[in-house]
Amino acid sequence: MLNFTVGPVHSTESVRAIGAQDVPYFRTPEFSEVMLENERLMKKFAKAADDARALFITGSGSASMEASVMNVFTKDDHLLVINGGSFGHRFVEICQIHDIPYTEIVPAFGKGVTSEDLAPFDGDSRYTGLLVNVDETSMGILYDLDLLSAFCQKNDLIFVVDAISSFLCDPIHMADAHIDVLLTGSQKALACPPGVSIMVLSKRAVDRIYAHEVKSLYFNLQSALDNGARGQTPFTPAVGILLQIHQRLLDIEKAGGVEAEIERVAHQAEDFRSKIKGLPFEVVSGSLPNAVTPLMPTTIKATDLFQILKDEYHIWVCPNGGEYAEKIFRVGHIGNLTPADNDTLIAAFNDLKKRGLI
Ligand SMILES: *Cc1c(COP(=O)(O)O)cnc(C)c1O
Repeated sequence: MLNFTVGPVHSTESVRAIGAQDVPYFRTPEFSEVMLENERLMKKFAKAADDARALFITGSGSASMEASVMNVFTKDDHLLVINGGSFGHRFVEICQIHDIPYTEIVPAFGKGVTSEDLAPFDGDSRYTGLLVNVDETSMGILYDLDLLSAFCQKNDLIFVVDAISSFLCDPIHMADAHIDVLLTGSQKALACPPGVSIMVLSKRAVDRIYAHEVKSLYFNLQSALDNGARGQTPFTPAVGILLQIHQRLLDIEKAGGVEAEIERVAHQAEDFRSKIKGLPFEVVSGSLPNAVTPLMPTTIKATDLFQILKDEYHIWVCPNGGEYAEKIFRVGHIGNLTPADNDTLIAAFNDLKKRGLI
C-alpha cells in the first residue's frame, strides 16, 4: 500500500530496522543516554530555550493534549480555545472533563484565526491561557502563529501549541514565539509507529506543573519531569518506539537538521499541489500547512474515492471524520514519500477520470 494519510505514515529503512529487533531492557544507563539525547534533539528542533524540558509520554498525541492541560491549568484558570475542527474540539472536551473554564473561538470555515476573532478577548485579564492546534489537521488549516504569539505575549497568556502535525513540517521557533507547551506525536512527521507523544515545556510551564498536585497517577508530570532528569520514565515506556524516535532524530540531524526536513516536506507538498491542477478537486483551505492538502471532490463522494483508491489502486488517502466525511478527503505529505509517489497518486486520479468515475 502507498500511504498518503497523516499518520501512521511510511517510515525510513533505518527506523523500520529497529522495529524488527527485540526490545531491550530499559532501566540501564545506556537507555538513559538515549533518552537524554532524545530530549536534547527535541529541544533543538523545537528551538526551545535552554531551561525548557522535553517529556516523552507513552500514549498517542491526545494523551499529551490531555496531560498538558490537566497539569498546567486548574479551575482557577480561564482558557481561550481555538476550535476550528476535530482537534480543537478535543481541547474543548478536555477542558470540560477537567472542569477548566474556557471560551471557544471558532474561525470561519476554511479560514485561519484573524485579529478580529481575537479582539473581543484582548485586554481582558480574566483569561490566563490559550490552546491552539497550529495545524488543525482535520481541516488542513495552518493558523497564524505570529498573530497568536503576539496576542499571548500582550495578554500574558500561557501559550499551548498542539504542533502534532506541524512539527518538522512548518517553521516553529518555540523560544521566539514564547510557546509554553509544544506537542507532537510519533506517528506524524516523526514517521515512527504510533504510541509516543512528546511535550516540550518552557520553564514557566514546568513551574506551573510543580505548583499544583494533579489528580492522576499515570499523567503526573511532576514525576515524569523528575524521572526524565536522569533519562528515565515513571513507568515502562514504549521502549521500541523511543529507540526508533532516537534513530529518526539522529537521521534528521545528519541530513541537515530541522530546516532541511521542513524544506523536504514543503517540497513534497508543493509538488503535489502543482500536479493536481486540472483534476476535479477544490482546495478547501485558505491557509495551507505543509503536512496535508484538504480537497473537496466535485464529482464523487470523498468516502467513495477513498474506498476505490484503497481497493483498486492500493493507495490510502486520508478520509475525514464527522460532518465533512463525504465532502472532504486529505492527502498527506509527511513520512517517507517522494515526488515519484505523488506521480503514482496523480496517475490513479487520471485513470479514474478516464474511467468516468471522477
Ligand atoms: C494527529 C493529531 C493529534 C493526535 O491524535 P492521536 O490520534 O491521539 O495521535 C492531535 N492533534 C493534531 C493536530 C493532530 O494532527
